Amino acid sequence: MSKVAAGKVISIHYTLRDDDGDVIDRSGHEPLDYLHGAGNIVDGLERALDGKAVGEAVKVSVAPEDGYGERDDAAVKIVPRSAFPAEIELEEGMELGMEDGDGNAMPIWVTEIAGDQVTIDLNHPLAGATLHFEVQIAGLREATAEEVEHGHPHGPHGHDH
Ligand code: ZN
Repeated sequence: MSKVAAGKVISIHYTLRDDDGDVIDRSGHEPLDYLHGAGNIVDGLERALDGKAVGEAVKVSVAPEDGYGERDDAAVKIVPRSAFPAEIELEEGMELGMEDGDGNAMPIWVTEIAGDQVTIDLNHPLAGATLHFEVQIAGLREATAEEVEHGHPHGPHGHDH
């Protein structure tokens, strides 16, 4: 019997709601694939799915510390427009993939643009939020060696590169 475990690619249908019950995010027609145990999804959800079987439905509320973290007001900064490459068309609400000093991917969000002043936020937009997930496990398979090495699934619903 195959169960959700580290090193497997799991396909899930999910709905994510906030405290008011409003839908924040959901899988589309196709399920989302992720590599279990690789931090592709938030910790609290990964733990809740561990050991579950295909076809099982899981309902879990994930606190901020097991989700996208608490909000850190010090992570909001105002920087000049010139800090960004000129070819990037900045828009409020957009996510930018930056790198930290060690070359690790570090997403930031543009929250406000006022003239030459751009407000950026290193907090995930869902930082501080309790995440209410309803998940259906649609399928699973063993990850390939390449997927384990990359830390994400490949294929039609996985990472595209
Ligand atoms: Zn890859």
